[in-house]
Amino acid sequence: MHYYSTNNKELKLGLKEALLKGLAPDGGLFMPYPIPILSRNDLESLRGLNLTQIALKLSELLFGEDIPGEELKQIVEEAVNFDTPVVQVEEDIYSLELFHGPTLAFKDVGARFLARLLGYFTRDMKSDIHVLVATSGDTGSAVANGFLGVPGIKVHVLYPSGLVSPLQEKQFTTLGKNISAIEVEGTFDNCQKLVKEAFMDQELTNRMTLTSANSINLARFLPQAFYYFRAWAQMEPESQLFFSVPSGNYGNMTAGLVAREMGLPVHTFLSANNLNDVVPSYLLTGKFKPRPSTPTIANAMDVGDPSNFVRILDLFDHKHEWITAHMHGYSYSDHDIREIIGSVYKKTGYLCDPHGATGYQAARSFLDNNQGYTGIFLETAHPAKFKESVEEVIGTPVEIPERLAAFADREKHSILLKPAYQDFKEYLKEQ
Ligand SMILES: *Cc1c(COP(=O)(O)O)cnc(C)c1O
Repeated sequence: MHYYSTNNKELKLGLKEALLKGLAPDGGLFMPYPIPILSRNDLESLRGLNLTQIALKLSELLFGEDIPGEELKQIVEEAVNFDTPVVQVEEDIYSLELFHGPTLAFKDVGARFLARLLGYFTRDMKSDIHVLVATSGDTGSAVANGFLGVPGIKVHVLYPSGLVSPLQEKQFTTLGKNISAIEVEGTFDNCQKLVKEAFMDQELTNRMTLTSANSINLARFLPQAFYYFRAWAQMEPESQLFFSVPSGNYGNMTAGLVAREMGLPVHTFLSANNLNDVVPSYLLTGKFKPRPSTPTIANAMDVGDPSNFVRILDLFDHKHEWITAHMHGYSYSDHDIREIIGSVYKKTGYLCDPHGATGYQAARSFLDNNQGYTGIFLETAHPAKFKESVEEVIGTPVEIPERLAAFADREKHSILLKPAYQDFKEYLKEQ
């Protein structure tokens, strides 16, 4: 298996190189080729397995050529050390709970996998590897915690000052060791741009080894395919499934589409969004128009120029009519999101976080117009991570799981920077 650039199919690299580069040298994103396809028997053999076991089987297909069996087993068992249960919310709607990892968000799966894969491929290198990650909230905590204490790797988390929740911020500004937090006076898009510029800066990349832990890194998004299979494996065999995916940078969606290419029987995918609806607009009009992001209460999806969208275009050969055959878009205002959280809680007792809420409602809307299907929405974070907005709606305190509460008492350390590339470059050169 090799990895090509979405800008040029002839630009092919092996796993190690593609992993270390993060972004292809021509600015494209890496895609796997050929995508392995499971036979019906392989697929059926996944029923009854937990996430770790499924991850192991799929990892052998995806990474088995590049990593010896015993090492791969160790990587998978350390990275995917929790499950992703499916919970029934209504007769025809289920929640795929992706928040049972250490930072209570789905990004734990990809971030922990990437950290261990990088650790494996760089174990003999003399100088440090620098991981750059731009975050609108959850990526930073998942990546920072995923890499904490991994030898030879330094992590630099860039985040928009004042635009992440206090508890989210604590999860990546209090760790110390090999983790640094850079507080950018700007938006998430500014942070993402600084990271992209650093990767394109030859002078810098000749001096130091930079890599990305954003969902543009193939080792972040590919392992996310595992839990789509795990979800399928928990459902009644005859269900006609669709997935509703709360989306921002579209790493999660891309992973689902890759799972489908691998043979997972999925009827369709819903793109559930907040007001940042460039992809739903694309689905309607055929025109992809990135624009500055709008802040919302589902802030991990406040993305105005979703970086993984080029991967989706690539998977469907840039054909709008193919994409719309497999994806439908929905978008919700903050007002809608609050109403959804409240009404689902009242009706079913299930508490959604603001991101999952968009996923639930997109599934509900789809089912209102299409009969005979079963919807699974991805509950991408634990509601306690967005305590303030959720409590405001339901009027009762949300219990904070212990592993999250522990962060609140620790002291924040961050470096304040203007969103100017020269300043960021100076900072990096001093590392
Ligand atoms: C990152 C994130 C999303 C968006 O995921 P993408 O893969 O970037 O589309 C949705 N919900 C939560 C809670 C997140 O942290």
